[in-house]
Amino acid sequence: SLELAQLDLKALVRTIPDYPKPGILFRDITTLIEHPEGFRESVERLANAHRGLGVTHVAGIEARGFIFGAGVAIALGVGFVPIRKKGKLPGQTIGQNYALEYGVDTIEIHDDVLDGSHRVLLVDDLIATGGTAIAAVGLIRRTGAVIEHAGFVIDLPDIGGAEKLETEGVTVTSLIAFE
Ligand code: AMP
Repeated sequence: SLELAQLDLKALVRTIPDYPKPGILFRDITTLIEHPEGFRESVERLANAHRGLGVTHVAGIEARGFIFGAGVAIALGVGFVPIRKKGKLPGQTIGQNYALEYGVDTIEIHDDVLDGSHRVLLVDDLIATGGTAIAAVGLIRRTGAVIEHAGFVIDLPDIGGAEKLETEGVTVTSLIAFE
């Protein structure tokens, strides 16, 4: 509708300087999801961008990827697969390390949910360096599943993560950019 088309999603994202450390501009989506139409439109736009692609599962990255990814999965009528930080999933998992600014982190996925018959859409709230998303794509590919699309509410294009993810063969859709 006209009303939805005019909704300024970017204006609903709050920017908090120097969180979690000096120099970072934290793009806070809690103000977006608190707004009913803002939340709904974010989910609908991410879902609509990925209809007709044969997506069988949405994978969301802990924790803010769960918020949007769950909605997108419901909107597309497919299941949701959580990608979590190390040690949080109760079943058998496979893990992927990825570099942080200082040190290394690990994300995991259950090893018995995806296989070569599946087509996965990855969802997270924001892409910065792309390190987290590329690790998630690696995990999903190790299950045998196909992943060719990822959706983010926010892109930070100057950091270049979305471009990097595209070189991995993943088409990136984002709703908002903060230069
Ligand atoms: P990256 O792996 O660098 O692409 O970082 C992506 C992850 O870190 C996402 O799950 C984001 O939630 C979080 N993140 C990175 N930078 C920011 C930022 N400026 N504001 C809010 N969240 C961020």
